[in-house]
Amino acid sequence: MNLTVTEVQAWLAKFSTAIVENKDYLSDLDTPIGDGDHGNNMARGVIAYEESVAKTTPKDISATFQALSMAMLSKVGGASGPLYGSAFMKMTKATKSVETITSYEQLGDILAEGLEGIKTRGKVELQDKTMIDVWDPVVKAMQVGELDYDMVETAKESTKDMVARKGRASYLGERSVGHIDPGATSSALLFKMLLEVVH
Ligand code: ADP
Ligand code: MG
Ligand code: MG
Repeated sequence: MNLTVTEVQAWLAKFSTAIVENKDYLSDLDTPIGDGDHGNNMARGVIAYEESVAKTTPKDISATFQALSMAMLSKVGGASGPLYGSAFMKMTKATKSVETITSYEQLGDILAEGLEGIKTRGKVELQDKTMIDVWDPVVKAMQVGELDYDMVETAKESTKDMVARKGRASYLGERSVGHIDPGATSSALLFKMLLEVVH
């Protein structure tokens, strides 16, 4: 594996495009179990990221993660903004002296820092029906070089049967069952786009 700043920026550009293309779908997922804004929230964040990197091209991986973190923290009003913002801030710190990511283990360890950021900020556990139900299995599979597209999809789909215990969906209790979590879905897009640049 040879992930330089170029591939990392290609990853996040693909993620931005995927979010914008799936904006309505993500907000539709958020309608029955939330307030119908997840796609709009995420799109605001990634558009701000794109504007930021167009203005001042980040020179390394860490600065690239920081640009996404700052965009999510400053431009996304919803719960997802501070959560993605914390994840990418931890990944900014984890890559401070990294010029190139050279192994699945190293990439998994960097993503594990991001997951810790979400857990700390969200006070969230596995099976709470949130984005970490995608992040956690993805990180573990990445660390051992076994992540594939189907695993990301399976993790996302697994949130359908869960009872929400965090965020707006938790207000519905048992009635949240039967709906895929919107944040798990945007996170699945993040990792599917990562798989497109990791070979
Ligand atoms: P809001 O709920 O403020 O409108 P969004 O709709 O943008 O924010 O994001 C909702 C998503 O955020 C959920 O689908 C879930 O994945 C995630 N989420 C909410 N609260 C938490 C939390 N405490 N920890 C982890 N993820 C959370
Ligand atoms: Mg919402
Ligand atoms: Mg909202």
